[in-house]
Amino acid sequence: MSNTNATLHDTGALFQIAEPEERAPSKRRPGFGIGIDLGTTHSLVALAPEGSAPRVLADAQDRPLLPSVVAYTGEEPVVGADAVAQQEEHPQAVISSVKRFMGRGLADIDFTHPYTLDVDEGAGVIRIEVDSAGVKRRLSPVEVSAEILRVLRDRASAELGEEIDGVVITVPAYFDDAQRQATRDAGRIAGLNVYRLLAEPTAAALAYGLDRGGQGLFAVYDLGGGTFDISILRLRDGVFQVLATGGDSALGGDDFDRVIAAHLLDEAGITEPTLHQRDAARIAARTAKEALSAVSSTTVSIAACGIGGVELRRETLESLLDPLIQRTIRACRRTLRDAGFRARELDGVVLVGGSTRVPRVRALVEETFGRPPLTDIDPDKVVAYGAAIQADILSGSAREGVTLLDVVPLSLGLETMGGIVEKIIPRNATIPISARQVFTNYSEQQTAMQIHVVQGERELASDCRSLARFELKGIPRLPPSMARVEVTFQLDADALLTVTARELMTGTKQSVEVKPTYGLSEEEVDKLVMESYDFASEDYSARSLAEARVELGRVALAVRIALEEVGHLKDIVTAEERAAIEAALADGDAIMARKDADGDAITAARKALEKLSEPFARRRMERALLAGMEGRSLFDIESALAAEEAELDERRGGHSAEIIED
Ligand code: ADP
Ligand code: MG
Repeated sequence: MSNTNATLHDTGALFQIAEPEERAPSKRRPGFGIGIDLGTTHSLVALAPEGSAPRVLADAQDRPLLPSVVAYTGEEPVVGADAVAQQEEHPQAVISSVKRFMGRGLADIDFTHPYTLDVDEGAGVIRIEVDSAGVKRRLSPVEVSAEILRVLRDRASAELGEEIDGVVITVPAYFDDAQRQATRDAGRIAGLNVYRLLAEPTAAALAYGLDRGGQGLFAVYDLGGGTFDISILRLRDGVFQVLATGGDSALGGDDFDRVIAAHLLDEAGITEPTLHQRDAARIAARTAKEALSAVSSTTVSIAACGIGGVELRRETLESLLDPLIQRTIRACRRTLRDAGFRARELDGVVLVGGSTRVPRVRALVEETFGRPPLTDIDPDKVVAYGAAIQADILSGSAREGVTLLDVVPLSLGLETMGGIVEKIIPRNATIPISARQVFTNYSEQQTAMQIHVVQGERELASDCRSLARFELKGIPRLPPSMARVEVTFQLDADALLTVTARELMTGTKQSVEVKPTYGLSEEEVDKLVMESYDFASEDYSARSLAEARVELGRVALAVRIALEEVGHLKDIVTAEERAAIEAALADGDAIMARKDADGDAITAARKALEKLSEPFARRRMERALLAGMEGRSLFDIESALAAEEAELDERRGGHSAEIIED
């Protein structure tokens, strides 16, 4: 793209770096960050202001868990237990488990649900149709989730006595880009500043302070109401990475209840229960199951089924649940194998989800992983705690020992003249991060700049991954190096990159959003990094060669423009001088035209041209200065010259990017 011969092109690549701009002020408010576990069945909000221990906020009735259910039965949506109460009467207008619809298209909905779906034109986004009080409404899963988030947001701001600054929302580790984006959008619609999304297992590991060791390999076993997730995490230099996820999206405590209910009905000799009997049995089964986590025997009564005071012992329960629990264990083994580890290599196992309270679950997990799992923290709250800790850090609080910052796996940069990469955010920089650099014009003819965003460690853009291209138009016609284009790279905590280019004189602005590492596996990242070492010396020569070409092109262009400007003013350029300069320009063109020209030859041609044109350039500059000098003191003139020198110096040497730490 950026051919140095294309000197008089209207648009061109980015060129040359000038002084970094000032540091962006931090807008964060320490202590006003909150963590939200936006769950399928329950959601929670937690706080851990300014380094304090995390705590979950309860509602006015002292209930910490908010059922993730929204009723659209009246004028205003109702969230939580009051919505649950209306579910039976209005199955279609009370939305539960909306998380399963987030960021999904119609084809992804392979589970049963009572709703009428319709696909939004173009976007392929699901809408849920509800009939609320005779009025038909179309709702997106994002809007429904936003209602849940709003309730939790209000709970937190009431507690803090002020608006909250930002939020960390947890998502399953396996959530894809669309599901994450939908969650993020829900946060925005709820009027929240989403600092970042955090993987649920990572949040649980954080709550246990597992990051403190700096290194380690952990498993997070999450058995909730309807789903089972197993994740293998690696902690390296204080950064967690999800190595593998597995599980079963249709296995959880609800299945436990079903199996127990079937057993109870069977015992009572009811072979064909009515819907009502089945529901009643399921509710009783759940109560008994939960009781048996603490005691070894309980009695069950189900009026609808004519069951009264039947004893249910823990052993019976365990034999009923065993096949289901074994399924989770098989998934654990499979996931470990996928990640390439053996159970004994793990440094810890964390339990998450209400169903991990079942003693048999704990026993089998211990047996499988060869160590007792971590269970000190309430498995319902552990994810929200981790989110709160992370939110506290992101709000700007200083927390001892806690890092959990993600890093940029591959450098992010821009293509500049000659196809050379200028790295803006270096590899392994911790995110969130933003950095900016100022570029300038190559020639007066350049009224647009090509912004080509690349990722990689190699020196030439053609060897890096191309992430995005856009053009900044409307650059004023200014002499070379006088226009200023500031390019900002803003990488948020979810590794979403926003690149903005702004022309500083006119304020013209353009930006793009890209997901830099999307679709790259760890192996691919490693491979790309290794390549940069393998090709280091070739890259170095390629870069020097490209730089030499850019420099010669730039000098030749400046000389041509100057010659044209002075026309035939004999006192500035003599005919002999002009002839010699033109010959040097022709030599330069000839060498540039040769594909195999080496860097030294190109540099020699540039130096020859500079040497020949130097006296002429000096005369031209003096004349320009004299013209502007009338009426100014000697002191003014000296400082003007000094400022000019300094600026030239800076432009020559200024290959530095500024990193703004959030
Ligand atoms: P989810 O993450 O799917 O929203 P939760 O983590 O809240 O689900 O887990 C809910 C499940 O935990 C339900 O099936 C519930 O019966 C079960 N559960 C809650 N407490 C206990 C307990 N003490 N013993 C056994 N199961 C329990
Ligand atoms: Mg859960």
